[in-house]
Amino acid sequence: MPIEKRVALVTGASRGIGQAIAKALASDESLTVIGTATSAEGASTISHYFAKWGLDGDGIVMDVADPLSVSEGIDQISSAYGPPLILVNNAGITRDGLLLRMKSDDWDSVVNTNLSAVYRTSKAVLKGMMKARWGRIINISSVVAQMGNPGQANYCAAKAGIEGFTRSMAREVATRDITVNAVAPGFIETDMTKDLPVDAQNAMLARVPIGRLGQASEVAAVVNFLASKQASYMTGECLHVNGGMYTG
Ligand code: NAP
Repeated sequence: MPIEKRVALVTGASRGIGQAIAKALASDESLTVIGTATSAEGASTISHYFAKWGLDGDGIVMDVADPLSVSEGIDQISSAYGPPLILVNNAGITRDGLLLRMKSDDWDSVVNTNLSAVYRTSKAVLKGMMKARWGRIINISSVVAQMGNPGQANYCAAKAGIEGFTRSMAREVATRDITVNAVAPGFIETDMTKDLPVDAQNAMLARVPIGRLGQASEVAAVVNFLASKQASYMTGECLHVNGGMYTG
């Protein structure tokens, strides 16, 4: 019997946490995983890694900061593979700086890419999920949404916004068997953290009881659980994956 396939969409899957999430989801044979990147080169990186791992997935170009690119990208996925019934809003950027010196461009681009994009993609996939009467949305927040972090007012505001969005949307769509949850990683070893000055890295590490950076695969495992049928009674929740750095 051929397996009935569902489509999962992971934004920002060219590297880091998004790549690990795409890999974890695609290990479920019933899923076709579409990963997005901002460039054709990033999209082909995604297609290549799925092929290399022998997993069912593909990469496409979709800039989550651009409403047209999101609507075209989701139309493209829906007609080629079917409507996404799992959405992982992972794409994110930082533009750090103390508030006194923060340029309005740095505020706008972080809020647009990290928060408004979540509104855009979630709204775009919702009709398909409602029709299927099943769906999973997982939004990648950050430990700093709740802790705050000097130099990251834009990023913390956007991530805290994601958590509020998650709770509201969860209440709106729960009766349709669509769950909406967030995952808040701590200090994870990716491109986003590798360029931090060594002093800042050491200061962060000193606050992590487990005493090491997290791995992208450790975040992906939690996302994979929330995307699964086993997580059917969890919604509006934010799960922390931070080595004990913040316990709420
Ligand atoms: P990363 O290594 O910098 O990768 C970022 C990903 O987002 C890339 O795939 C990038 O695609 C994509 N992206 C950026 N802007 C985009 C846009 N406008 N449209 C579509 N995709 C875009 O980041 P990461 O560390 O894996 O972080 C992934 C998520 O986890 C982010 O939401 C981040 O805020 C969150 N997070 C990370 C940490 C950490 O310690 N690393 C901690 C807490 C939360 P391109 O390759 O095309 O640029």
